[in-house]
Amino acid sequence: MAVPVPSRQLFIAGEWREPLLEKRIPIINPATEEIVGDIAAATAEDVDMAVDAARTAFFSNEGKDWSSASGAYRAKFLRAISDMILERKSLLAKLETIDTGKPLDEAISDMESCASCFKYYAELAEALDLKQKITVSIQQQSFKTHVLKEPIGVVALITPWNYPLLMATWKVAPALAAGCTAILKPSELASVTCLELAEICRQVALPSGVLNVVTGLGSVAGAPMSSHPHVDKIAFTGSTATGIKVMTAAAQLIKPVSLELGGKSPILVFEDADLDTAAEWTIFGCFFTNGQICSATSRLLVLESIAAEFLEKLVDWSKSIKISDPMEEGCRLGAIISEGQYEKIMSFISTAKSEGATILYGGARPQHLKKGFFIEPTIITDVSTSMSIWREEIFGPVLCVKTFTTENEAIELANDTDYGLGAAVISKDLERCERITKAVQSGIVWINCSQPCFNEAPWGGNKRSGIGRELGEWGLENYLSIKQVTHYTSEKPLGWYSAPRKQ
Ligand code: NAD
Repeated sequence: MAVPVPSRQLFIAGEWREPLLEKRIPIINPATEEIVGDIAAATAEDVDMAVDAARTAFFSNEGKDWSSASGAYRAKFLRAISDMILERKSLLAKLETIDTGKPLDEAISDMESCASCFKYYAELAEALDLKQKITVSIQQQSFKTHVLKEPIGVVALITPWNYPLLMATWKVAPALAAGCTAILKPSELASVTCLELAEICRQVALPSGVLNVVTGLGSVAGAPMSSHPHVDKIAFTGSTATGIKVMTAAAQLIKPVSLELGGKSPILVFEDADLDTAAEWTIFGCFFTNGQICSATSRLLVLESIAAEFLEKLVDWSKSIKISDPMEEGCRLGAIISEGQYEKIMSFISTAKSEGATILYGGARPQHLKKGFFIEPTIITDVSTSMSIWREEIFGPVLCVKTFTTENEAIELANDTDYGLGAAVISKDLERCERITKAVQSGIVWINCSQPCFNEAPWGGNKRSGIGRELGEWGLENYLSIKQVTHYTSEKPLGWYSAPRKQ
């Protein structure tokens, strides 16, 4: 059943406002290529208004209305948001699928994750009240020192299109828990559910200006946030190329940034693994969310002696993936987000072919789907380490395969990348898994699995995959500033200078 996409404006200071230039950007359903609505296209002037609203909310009533209110007070709003997301789960999931092309079952699971993430940070907001004024043990007797954890200020949260509401939640929930006020800038390719989050905030009566949602193009609506003098921090998730721009702009004001960027993560498969179990994790690790996951384990490293048998299994498992309209029951591979991304992925595949790689499976539009940006799950062999298909993030359902003969060679190949987000190892030998865990240069290691993600555990990468960690307590720390408070408690004067003579 068709779900109408609500028509929304910008959400600033607790109300819907038309962008100053009244421009809109069409929303295209990637599974049908049809225009299903539009979003407001903000400009720098709209961003200024949103920043003003967030700043006013931050300082309102000397902070007592939000930023210096108790964590317990803020937790009530986070729980109310969580409850309302759950209540609207089915509608939100459908909107997410229409906007992104991801299978509906995935979108439902994303909405549940959003609700649980808001709830988790409600608990951390309450716990924050107990972590204030923690005494620091110091050596001098005449001083006493404690630490305050304060919200960092007005934060700009810039997010991508692959998990629109979930990536926003990973930022909004901890930012609000910490007492920050925020401007969320979702991707112009998928803003719908973030706008519904704004509507939820309005309905739970979140104090106005605490969360503002500004939609629009990255270069027009996103860029002014990185360089804005009244934005105190940028939390960014997106490509490494945009991350560089954000960090460069923020550096001019020494503005802190946390960056969740791209990846090209390896999965290492050894001879003692159950090959069917390993095959399912391998295709899940690369083809889930249509392969558009920053942490996708898109480089398969398999031991030479089992490679032929394992690849046969991979092809069999890939054949079982249901590719269809993402709204259809049982769909496991939907449409790529946009025509631009579709063309980019196809061009990576054809370049690999022309460089001598073999398309073992897939590599084309599925024959039964004439419309929509669909690409078959694709497995590529005969890949060299210099090929772009091996080195660059494809962000589509494309798995590249290389073989190895020793554990050391596997580790060397795994680390031969500019990125360092995730890595997976599939083996029954847990000592080997531990050796590999230590040796791989990545922020996350999965043993005998790929891609699971938990509210409580840190998420983020090394090298060009980013700076900082989201989720867990680390996610909250991103939005807190540490203030040292020191009392001089002695009765004695300092005595460093000679006291001036009395006149
Ligand atoms: P993108 O870099 O094109 O855009 C991300 C966001 O930045 C969008 O909201 C966009 O409008 C905005 N933007 C663009 N130019 C900007 C500028 N000059 N200043 C400020 N903002 C600007 O990324 P994308 O295509 O939306 O998302 C895909 C990328 O995100 C992939 O590289 C993927 O690996 C990465 N990603 C990383 C993680 C992670 O946790 N590490 C999670 C999801 C996605």
